[in-house]
Parts: sequence; structure tokens; C-alpha cells
Amino acid sequence: METWQKLIRESVHTVDELVEKFNIDRKVAEDLDEFFQARINPYYLGLIRYPGDPIWLQCIPEKIELDDFDAIEDPLMEDAMSPVSNITHRYPDRALFLVTSQCGIYCRFCTRKRKVGDYEKISMKGLEAAFKYLEEHTEIRDVILSGGDPLMLTDIMLEKILKRLRKIEHIEIIRLGTRMPVVLPQRITPNLCNMIKKYHPIYVNTHFNHPWEITDESSRACELLADNGVPVGNQMVIMKDINDDPAIVKELMQKLLKIRVRPYYMYMADETKGANHFRTSVETGMKIVEALRGHTSGLAIPHFVIDAPGGGGKIPLLPNYVLHMDEEQIILRNYQNKVYSYKNYADKNNPDGYNSTKGKKAKTKSVKKQTSKKKTEVLVFDEVDS
Ligand code: SF4
Repeated sequence: METWQKLIRESVHTVDELVEKFNIDRKVAEDLDEFFQARINPYYLGLIRYPGDPIWLQCIPEKIELDDFDAIEDPLMEDAMSPVSNITHRYPDRALFLVTSQCGIYCRFCTRKRKVGDYEKISMKGLEAAFKYLEEHTEIRDVILSGGDPLMLTDIMLEKILKRLRKIEHIEIIRLGTRMPVVLPQRITPNLCNMIKKYHPIYVNTHFNHPWEITDESSRACELLADNGVPVGNQMVIMKDINDDPAIVKELMQKLLKIRVRPYYMYMADETKGANHFRTSVETGMKIVEALRGHTSGLAIPHFVIDAPGGGGKIPLLPNYVLHMDEEQIILRNYQNKVYSYKNYADKNNPDGYNSTKGKKAKTKSVKKQTSKKKTEVLVFDEVDS
């Protein structure tokens, strides 16, 4: 048995352990176990510094999860968009392939609480139908292995899946959606990486939410993946009392770059049954983006998105940097709230735009009106072309 498997075996997961270790009322612990079981492995448990801290909140069951039973179970409509079991096909050229129900820990905010942890709900029996679907749908060029966590599979099982996918010519890239580098970095072994690199291009999307999750162990895991040619991206979710603070997010993003993980997405939390207590306002998200853009490397800035309820997919959000736009120019503000004008050139999409050979006067009147707000300062805008 490998170290990571031993750590899974030593996880806290029974009602008795929840009562004893975290002082949870027995009836509540039983109800929580019924709703969405616990798994807290010794590595992740060891990152907790005090009760209620950002690590604790992510893994220790709380009574409040039982309070929003009216909320939606499958907010992203993954099941409705599942043509065969184990596959969700939402976007034209990508498919989500669920290969296991198991995870290194069971995150209390999980969007797939309805399925994760239950062997019956993501069954290996469905894999054959899923492979057939992927073989027949030649438009799919990108497959994301998820679950559960695909790195809960043994190297042998995972290799069987990768080998089969690599036989499908139209599948160009394979992504592994895994929290293992964060919650159980011992899973990222040289053997695993040696196996994975036979099936490149393979990408990993992982899920760090807080700077305390960046440890010697998780740094080693991410660097090992990078050394073996696996680009690693991070998807973070903004959550109350975990990371709803611009300084925390900035520290996390900067530290991720140091361990060669590229911040990829920052999500608003989904409207998920049993996880709504983690949700924050969109304004909080905007504030975080404002605190990053211009204040740190562009590489450290993830796409800020809402995964639209009802299966609409990821929709990007940006603070409003455009103050005015017409066919001749766009008026923008920068991260310091200073205002700039950029000539909007004529081309096939904008035949009435600025044309340097003919010469045009900028529409000073309308622009001045747009930029006369007290907070802004017009720096580049008295230019009149002839
Ligand atoms: S690792 Fe991912 S799938 Fe598993 S419980 Fe956490 S969020 Fe859910």
C-alpha cells in the first residue's frame, strides 16, 4: 500500500470520530453523515491551526449544512446534460468524464455533494458507455477527468483510462480535475508522473483556496507535475471566512506562481444544497479583482467567473473599466482610476471609426460628459486630430 492510500485509510470519517474529535452533537453528526459523509485525512487535518479557521471550514462538517435543504442539488444541471452515465456534455468541443466518486477529503462546499462519496452514483460500470460516447462524438477534442477525484484511482486503473482515451484520435487534450496536490500531495509520486507523461498533452486543474494550503508537501507535488511536463492551473472559489479578502487572495495567487501553478479561474460559489453558507456577494468578488489587476503580475490574475445556474456555463465578470465607447474612441479607466482615451480604428467591423489617413476629430463633447465624475482624472484627452 502506498503512503497516500495509508493516509486515506487513517482519515476521520465515522460518526463516533466526529463526535469525539470535533465535539459535534451525535444526532447532528448522524444527519450530516447521511447527507454528505466526512473524510478528513491526517495530512489535511494537520493544516488546521485553530477551530473554525479556513482549513477547518473546508473539511469539518457543520450543522449549518443541514439548514438549507430546500436549495438546489445540481445547480449546474450536470445530470440533465448527461447523455450517458459518467459523461456531462455541455460545451461543443469538451466533455466532463466522471471516473470515481471518491476524494482525498470531502470538501464541505462541494458542488457534487449529491454524488461524491457514493460508489453507486459514479459507477465504474458506466465507463464503457462513456468511452463509446467519446469515440462516437468526433467534435470532442478535450476531455476532463473528474469525479470525485480521478487521482483516487490507482496508477494502473488511471493508466487504463488514459490509454483508452489516447486511442481516440479526435481527443487532443486530457485534463485531470484533482484536489490531490492540495489535500493529499503524497499522491503525486514519481511513478504517477512517469505514467502520466506517456499520455501527453495532459493538464492538471487543481483547487487551492487559501495560502495555508501551500506547504512544502503541496509545493513538491506541483513542482513534480511541472517537471514532468504537466501544466498545472488553479481554480479557486470565493468563500465566506475562507478567502473573501483581497489580501488573502493576492497572497495565494502570488504563492501559486512560485510553485509553478497558474491561477486559472476564480469562481463565485455555486448555489448548492448544504453549501450556501459559504456564499459571498458579487461585490466582494469584484473588490478582489480590483485589488489584483494592476497591483500584481497579470499572470497572478485568474478569470473571475460565475458558473451560471441552470447549466449556462462559465460567464466572465470584470469590474467596469470602460467609461464610454463610440465608433471613434474608447474611454477607459485604469487600476488607479485615471482615465485614458484609445482611438477606435476603422475596419470591417467599425467602418465609421478613426481613420489616420483621412483624419477625424474626436468627439470631445460626449467624452467630457462621460468623464466628468469627481473621482476620475482625465489625463489623455485634449488631443484633436486633423
Ligand atoms: S475534491 Fe472536489 S469533488 Fe471531491 S469533495 Fe472536494 S470539491 Fe468535491
